[in-house]
Amino acid sequence: MLTAIGDVMRKCYDRGWITTRDGNISLRRTNSNILYITPSGWRKTIIHPEHIVKCKMIDDDIIVPNNQTASGELLMHYLIQRNATKTRAVVHVHATNIVAAMYAGYNLPEIASHFPEIYRYTKVGASVSSLPALSEGLAIETADNLYIKQDGSYEFDIVGQKNHGVCAVGRDPWDAYEHIERLDHICEIVLKSKVIL
Ligand SMILES: [Zn+2]
Repeated sequence: MLTAIGDVMRKCYDRGWITTRDGNISLRRTNSNILYITPSGWRKTIIHPEHIVKCKMIDDDIIVPNNQTASGELLMHYLIQRNATKTRAVVHVHATNIVAAMYAGYNLPEIASHFPEIYRYTKVGASVSSLPALSEGLAIETADNLYIKQDGSYEFDIVGQKNHGVCAVGRDPWDAYEHIERLDHICEIVLKSKVIL
């Protein structure tokens, strides 16, 4: 599954959803206190398992190995991963059509409700305000809008982050990727329709 992290990054780059050094992915396995996360400042097109940073979640803290630099969005991944009871992947990229739809003023949960190809499989939460990348506010509001339930799972699979990107959760990196792909696709359709809701 660590190989899938690099594969998803390359796919996102090929689709134009990130520039070379953007985007980040984390993975936490069932009953493990290890959080695997993509490194900061590394070309995302050449990520392989040996480049992935292996952090430890201890009590209410996360420990990054001394000689490594984890993604600048580590806090966002930690807040979304800390309550996981089953294997969970978190993918953050800048999916073009989703960001464009938010920029144009569309409400993502509303437009998703018009298309069965997405609402049958992917639940879209309220978009996160326009907040600085890497900020604590972005991390907190993203985790809040995914809305954790009592059983440790999330009410929503994906949320948009205005003027920035998206964050999706899934059973593995490809599952999270599919949520982004579905939402990006219907955003592309809505934008092409030029219908103002
Ligand atoms: Zn970003």
